[in-house]
Amino acid sequence: MKFEELPTPCYVVDEGLVEKNLKILNGVMQRTGAKIVLAQKAFSMYSMYPLIGEYLSGTTASGIFEARLGHEEMGKENHIFAPAYRDDEIDEIIDICDHIIFNSFSQLDKFKVKALQAGKKVGLRINPECSTQEGHAIYDPCSPGSRFGVTIENFQPDALDGVSGLHFHTLCQQNADDLETTLNAIEANFGPWLSQMEWINFGGGHHITREDYDISLLEKCIKRMQDTYGLKVYLEPGEAVALNAGYLVSTVLDTLKNKMDIAILDTSASCHMPDVLEMPYRPPLLGSGEVGEKPYMYRLGGQTCLAGDNIGDYSFDQPLQSGDRLVFGDMAIYTMVKNTTFNGMPLPAIAIQDKNGDCKIVREFGYEDFKMRL
Ligand SMILES: *Cc1c(COP(=O)(O)O)cnc(C)c1O
Repeated sequence: MKFEELPTPCYVVDEGLVEKNLKILNGVMQRTGAKIVLAQKAFSMYSMYPLIGEYLSGTTASGIFEARLGHEEMGKENHIFAPAYRDDEIDEIIDICDHIIFNSFSQLDKFKVKALQAGKKVGLRINPECSTQEGHAIYDPCSPGSRFGVTIENFQPDALDGVSGLHFHTLCQQNADDLETTLNAIEANFGPWLSQMEWINFGGGHHITREDYDISLLEKCIKRMQDTYGLKVYLEPGEAVALNAGYLVSTVLDTLKNKMDIAILDTSASCHMPDVLEMPYRPPLLGSGEVGEKPYMYRLGGQTCLAGDNIGDYSFDQPLQSGDRLVFGDMAIYTMVKNTTFNGMPLPAIAIQDKNGDCKIVREFGYEDFKMRL
């Protein structure tokens, strides 16, 4: 099917663009010997896992269901981190995961023997207390009072028996300079225990496939940990795997006026692109301009009852009309994994666009997908 023939709303992931990202990530792996795994929480479209598995070392999970998905659909190295694990899930987690990363010494104490007996790698998440991002407190695991990772004040060097690696995750859409800053903080605080580890996991948030990302500095950071401490290095980006590799196609349903021009689309920021409201940000829209750039300005809104369900203000060369198709960019990550049926909104279909531009729908949703959760 052609792109223009897809039903709307529809997420379309471009295979060629995902592969372009994967080649960049695989280049880092080849040149440094580091291992890179997909953080599924950003992008769990498992129909793409065979392709991703050709280039990356495996998957990481935020919980048992993602761990199962990685195990079933990619079947390579499978890592997991969660702030705490439940008694009734730990056996299955140990069964299907290779690296199990704990968030506290009490969780380690409770579960590590089981994991070690099963031959699995046990890791501990540390908190370097080094905030490198401004403005986004909800995305900063180093903010004061954060529940993520053991701080140096609570670190128990005597209880590290069986722990083969340390994990940190402190970045969000950041460049390698912030990674370097973070490694300095880690060496200052946790330096004495690095040499006794086998591996270190740099977490996610590395925007490696973004145009201005400093890959050579990333590789220097990796080599520094390898050469100074003899550590194997893991990275677990989510965003970078499918950054700028997908679209959300929608249709204009109506236009109206209230001191300005408004268009109602058959999609919703709240339901289909929640990070637009949560982050917040204004997604790219193909063929549109900034406010004031082109002659016809519209506020684009969704079908829900939420007054704030606005995607943003965009300008166009022509007035919008009902039936026009609008294509939002960078809609592969943190979209289909976070969408909801609030207001009974239908979920967008999911499609793949292959390298020839042909599109194939892999999933469609209906009323039952709304009803079954209630
Ligand atoms: C969110 C998260 C990631 C992935 O982050 P991205 O920003 O998508 O690269 C990796 N590891 C952990 C522990 C996370 O919480």
